[in-house]
Amino acid sequence: MLARVGDIVRQAAPSHRIAIISDAVVAPLHAPAVLAQFPAARTQLFTMPAGEQEKTRERWAQLTDALVAWGAGRDTTIVALGGGVVGDLAGFVAATYMRGLPVVQIPTTLLAMVDASVGGKTAVDTPAGKNLVGAFHNPAAVIMDPAVLATLPPAVLRSGLAEMLKHGIIADVSYFETLLHALPDLLTQGAAAPAFAALIAGSVRIKATVVAEDSREGGLRQILNFGHTIAHAIEKVQRYDLLHGDAVAMGMVAEARLAERLGLAPAGLARAVRDAVARAGLPVTLPLGVSAEAVVAETHGDKKARGGAVRYALPRSLGEMEPAEGRWTVTVDDADVLAALLEQLP
Ligand code: NAD
Repeated sequence: MLARVGDIVRQAAPSHRIAIISDAVVAPLHAPAVLAQFPAARTQLFTMPAGEQEKTRERWAQLTDALVAWGAGRDTTIVALGGGVVGDLAGFVAATYMRGLPVVQIPTTLLAMVDASVGGKTAVDTPAGKNLVGAFHNPAAVIMDPAVLATLPPAVLRSGLAEMLKHGIIADVSYFETLLHALPDLLTQGAAAPAFAALIAGSVRIKATVVAEDSREGGLRQILNFGHTIAHAIEKVQRYDLLHGDAVAMGMVAEARLAERLGLAPAGLARAVRDAVARAGLPVTLPLGVSAEAVVAETHGDKKARGGAVRYALPRSLGEMEPAEGRWTVTVDDADVLAALLEQLP
């Protein structure tokens, strides 16, 4: 697919100029193959430092100024080449530059393929929290080539499996089971595993179906937040010094316990979720030194919290979420969250 980027961009977002935004890790690895497909005189590569700490308003301003200096106008298509950080930031640059330029997403991490690049959310972080400033800006195309995953560190690749498991748990038990079955191959063969492409496609299909029904997160889209209320709290307590997928893995285990505790899900669901997470090589318990109390306190900082109450998107069974009369989230007491975090499954 990487060899077809030029053709796809010319078809999906035809324009005079191409601005490729990437980061300092991904650009040397994969930008040459993309650059080669566009006329050099009308194409520019903008490289930012890698990492979540770069997803800021300052980096947005710097990239925007660089586009102005280069002469980008409404005749420009932005191509985001990188993980979720590049995708979110370049997407937000595209959403705001001259009131909106087309963006083509080329996700290069598993997480960005199955999650960040699909659904049109773009954002930057602020000191007060993640993704606090952003816009909905759908990409003109998303181009995924599993071959680029070969250069990804194994732990980063593995963390993307958490969102794939989540997609199965929230919407499709047969996808969940197919993924479980493939996990040994995915873990031993990495990007070379033949099953990867179809599993990525399956995951994208689930996410795309959900966001197509509720693009602005008025209801159904909340189910994508399964595991994330606790995950975001863990990330904050850990000052973002862990992989997002690892936090989601721990969050899903705890929130599945919560669903059982509240009587929304039958006994056994939490264990099934925990076993799947463990089989993917992902963490099932809080990191050492992180207290359950601190995590509960931090859930109140989550921007999905409403009026002091914390709402959770919880599973009813594998492949099905609690509809809560169309709200798709339920209010939960801190005491239950704390108990779910502390509970040890045999
Ligand atoms: P990331 O973009 O920071 O990438 C992780 C690391 O891998 C970086 O150092 C990057 O340079 C490197 N990398 C990327 N591709 C590589 C490759 N092919 N080979 C070698 N190294 C590579 O992190 P991520 O996990 O991809 O994304 C996390 C971000 O995504 C967060 O900011 C999160 O908020 C966002 N996100 C957004 C959405 C959304 O709907 N917009 C959904 C989920 C997550």
